[in-house]
Amino acid sequence: MNEFLCENLKKVEDNIAAACQKAGRDRSEVTLIAVSKTKPVDMLQTVYDQNIREFGENKVKYIVGKTALIHSVDSLHLAKEIEKQAAKNNVIVPILIEVNIAEEESKFGIHKEETIALVREVAQMQHVHIRGLMTIAPYVENPEDNRPYFKGIRQLSVDIKQENIDNVDMDVLSMGMTGDYMVAIEEGATLVRVGTGIFGERQYHI
Ligand SMILES: *Cc1c(COP(=O)(O)O)cnc(C)c1O
Repeated sequence: MNEFLCENLKKVEDNIAAACQKAGRDRSEVTLIAVSKTKPVDMLQTVYDQNIREFGENKVKYIVGKTALIHSVDSLHLAKEIEKQAAKNNVIVPILIEVNIAEEESKFGIHKEETIALVREVAQMQHVHIRGLMTIAPYVENPEDNRPYFKGIRQLSVDIKQENIDNVDMDVLSMGMTGDYMVAIEEGATLVRVGTGIFGERQYHI
């Protein structure tokens, strides 16, 4: 198991380095998040031992104050809930706004056109701090198919940055998963979220 994980990790690291080089970016501009959801703690430990310090989980209710960054804020309702919990705990919670860039019915995320309005509203909150955008691109066989979406969200983040909204940073762009993280890096991702590529397939049924 250890060997399997270390080999996977090495492959992912090599791919990230190659994509950075191709795009003329420094490796330090891209952070790898090991998406460990559903995986047992001993697998996380092995990856941790390889110096990976960023893990991705889906436990929204329990994470305010315990997480470095919430990636998936896509409504005013959810932002208000986080604001409430954060105020209670007296912390400032960094978040990303999740954008449904391909406008897929099945996906969470706010539509591109509505993003700036949501950013403006969330910017008013005292305990929530927008750091950037996140997207989950469509599942595709050919990662090139997602390049236009990655370009689109990158452009959106540049447009929002130019608005110079108080309490809003646009320095984080979380995009790219196992199937397409190399293309995402070429298009400007600062965080890539890799699950299957590190831990193997997830089994939801035991
Ligand atoms: C599960 C998940 C991932 C990782 O997906 P893989 O295709 O296994 O790399 C990335 N981001 C989010 C939001 C996820 O829920």
